[in-house]
Amino acid sequence: MPTPDRPIWIKDPLSILTDGAERGVVVDGGRVVELVGRGKQPVARDVAVCDASAHVVLPGLINTHHHFYQTLTRALPAAMDRELFPWLQALYPVWAKLTPAYLDLAVTVAMSELLLSGCTTTTDHHYVFPAGLEYAVDIEVAVARRLGLRVLLTRGSMNRSQRDGGLPPDSVVQDEQTILADSARVVAQFHERGDTAMVQIALAPCSPFSVTTSLMRATAALADRLDVRLHTHLAETEDENRFCEQLHGCRPLDYLEDCGWLNGRTWLAHGVHFNAAEMQRLAKAKTSISHCACSNQLLASGCCPVCDMEDAGVAIGLGVDGSASNDGSNLIQEVRSAFLLQRARYGVTRVSHKDALRWATEGSAACVGRPELGRIAVGKMADLALFKLDELRFSGHGDPLAALVLCGAHRADRVMVGGKWVVEDGAIPGLNVADLIRRHSAAAAAMSGII
Ligand code: ZN
Repeated sequence: MPTPDRPIWIKDPLSILTDGAERGVVVDGGRVVELVGRGKQPVARDVAVCDASAHVVLPGLINTHHHFYQTLTRALPAAMDRELFPWLQALYPVWAKLTPAYLDLAVTVAMSELLLSGCTTTTDHHYVFPAGLEYAVDIEVAVARRLGLRVLLTRGSMNRSQRDGGLPPDSVVQDEQTILADSARVVAQFHERGDTAMVQIALAPCSPFSVTTSLMRATAALADRLDVRLHTHLAETEDENRFCEQLHGCRPLDYLEDCGWLNGRTWLAHGVHFNAAEMQRLAKAKTSISHCACSNQLLASGCCPVCDMEDAGVAIGLGVDGSASNDGSNLIQEVRSAFLLQRARYGVTRVSHKDALRWATEGSAACVGRPELGRIAVGKMADLALFKLDELRFSGHGDPLAALVLCGAHRADRVMVGGKWVVEDGAIPGLNVADLIRRHSAAAAAMSGII
């Protein structure tokens, strides 16, 4: 169905995650322009009607951490059943074989999976730049534009290889000058400003164990000068704390602050191992956290203290993390996973399905610095995810919104980004999924040496 030029009334939803919109919302010009309350009709005239009577309507979900290229190394036997550091060491040589064509396939797979799971905005943290893949961010921008997904792509980096006491091999790192020059290039070329932006760029050294102090500091200064966001992994594992103390003589957050990163530009992946005083410092600095529940469980990294962080005033978003440690890119499933993990930690009175949905929407919007996203309200961007409850797993449900999380929704029926439908009837128009799987699987096999 082509997107009409006239206003769209998403009418009479089964349930909707906002107040005062029992009869739905009207979308026009890429924004939500009206909430239609109980017993009301839209004020807007000549509306196109989208019957949502079988749908639960959510603000589009926002993914705050991922490594798209890793869809090529899912469930790889050589890396399975390992903790973070040995897991990375097993995978670096495989990732060194990435090519532009392989990355295009990996990004298409990851973004398609995300869209089909109700995601309307995603970040990506691409930090592997083997020779020949210098234009990785350019490839990601092209795929995002093709699929209509809103993105905050990060220009990642690694420059501390094994030669300098770091973890990655020489084949996947670049030097500081090259990294900073390309960071400035991709911001100048692709970063859009304002609340309608579809493509934004952030800067993202990979982690304290793969980047030099000089690059950490220079990246923060460059982000400040260019007015873009900053991202990295931090406090993911106890190994990392020990490594940081050995290398820098301090804990990861002290190191981050010393490098000029502890501020409102920064959102951090994981944040599993912060203490109470560090949570207060994060809150004061307005640094936010991407909680990656599936990844933390799979790699046995620990359980992020989400409620303690929120009590301290830290914004929490959700991230699926790279497909090598999840191994899927399904954001509505991540909501369920985060809900279950945090409920196990904090109990039934502290964590509800609505909390988990809030992390994936409003919390994630704070992480990516986009307050115009993550909520259904007049003037906000029309980024919406519509789920049908017509599968066996939902049969006999009570509360539709709770059923979405508790019964394990995994696929959106319709997704809208900036007022345009990008998923219809559970599919991405024009995408040949069977052909994509065939080509992506062949690339994965070639990279891992299976063929
Ligand atoms: Zn990650």
